[in-house]
Amino acid sequence: MSIRLKSQKREVTNKIRNEKGFTLIELMVTVLIIGILVAVAIPGYSFTREQARDRVCRANLRIMDGAAAQYQAELGAWPAAGNAGVVALVTAGFIKMEPNEPHQGETLYTMDANGKALSSNGHVTY
Ligand SMILES: [Zn+2]
Repeated sequence: MSIRLKSQKREVTNKIRNEKGFTLIELMVTVLIIGILVAVAIPGYSFTREQARDRVCRANLRIMDGAAAQYQAELGAWPAAGNAGVVALVTAGFIKMEPNEPHQGETLYTMDANGKALSSNGHVTY
């Protein structure tokens, strides 16, 4: 091996050894910035999710109210009160299936005696 080649090899080895990684301070600052970004993003994300659930809930109520009006127009009576009214809408074919309540993930909608759809505990109205 020539002297020149050996010296080039040593140069490359020294270069690799001299490359430094991140200092502890740099890593801590990076982690801090990422932490701040996450702290800002998570509440906004939760708020948006909750808003989306409310909107789906309202849309379900509107659809069931429309179906109840059709039910009343065709059959001459409002669907029964309680969850039976929602089931009656499905049975009579005015809605395809009982909608899931997005806040609880179950089919918890009910009807009042005048064909108005209600969310569980009345937590959403429109
Ligand atoms: Zn709801």
